Amino acid sequence: FIIPDFPGFTKHIEDFYWKCKSNGEGKVASYIPQLARVNPDNWGVSVCTIDGQRFSIGDTTVPFTLQSCSKPLTYAIALERLGQEVVHQYVGQEPSGRNFNELVLDHNKKPHNPMINAGAILVCALLKVLVKPEMTLAEKFDFTMNYFKRLAGGENLGFNNAVFLSEREAADRNYALGFYMREHGCYPEKTNLRECMDFYFQCCSMESNCEAMSVMAATLANGGICPTTEEKVLKPDSVRDVLSLMHSCGMYDYSGQFAFKVGIPAKSGVSGSMLVVIPNVMGICMWSPPLDPMGNSCRGVQFCEELVNEFNFHRYDNL
Ligand code: GLN
Repeated sequence: FIIPDFPGFTKHIEDFYWKCKSNGEGKVASYIPQLARVNPDNWGVSVCTIDGQRFSIGDTTVPFTLQSCSKPLTYAIALERLGQEVVHQYVGQEPSGRNFNELVLDHNKKPHNPMINAGAILVCALLKVLVKPEMTLAEKFDFTMNYFKRLAGGENLGFNNAVFLSEREAADRNYALGFYMREHGCYPEKTNLRECMDFYFQCCSMESNCEAMSVMAATLANGGICPTTEEKVLKPDSVRDVLSLMHSCGMYDYSGQFAFKVGIPAKSGVSGSMLVVIPNVMGICMWSPPLDPMGNSCRGVQFCEELVNEFNFHRYDNL
């Protein structure tokens, strides 16, 4: 086993869990009613090692929408199907140093990276237009959902239509980003912006839970092979790129500090979820809706800090 004393390890996870549970900081996202209504007390942590050992504590079967946690996944599919060179003709690899939905492009007039809204909207355009252009919107939705599901080893994955409809209603900023990028010729030819935006909102509105998403994180930790089904879902090259950008850009404008303090690739979403990948060891998914001012889950960030205080999972702990 990759973690020889798994019960001993999970005892620590439990301790961190209870410690973080008393953290009452942060505010639940309120830009759409479906997120504003979520109970802030929800708190779950699921772990899945690359050899398939599992542990869950708290609200790990309660569904939440993926939101920005879908960004590394759609980016992974784009890399897998188009390769790094094509994808990065359209989107950069630099942290933006700004909010996740800020109306800003890099000095090449490209979105800074695929982990913020502008970059993710652009990746959606790449998936729509360049990957299997013959597919209808409906087929593209199934194709993407199927990919997400394979990453999760076939476990719980759904779609929240109420969130989707609300996202689309409350999307002035995202539309502004979409049009701003069109003004600057960011998209591949034949991009239909309305379809592309819908596809982006659909990806944000995919629904899962901590248990299933810990398997997704473990698939990334395992170089693209799902540890529970042993299916090769992604190439190691694609996973390498995804983890690189999760490491440098995955935690919004806290990414630099997170890379410094915690030193593991992670991606947060506005629903309070967090995908955390410890390469060659395990995947973790956490969910707690209250967010800090940067948009990251307060308990999630605290949990990661507790984790690397106890274990040498930081990228540069093994020197
Ligand atoms: N649906 C959100 C948006 O587009 C996703 C962003 C996030 O999770 N931070 O604004």
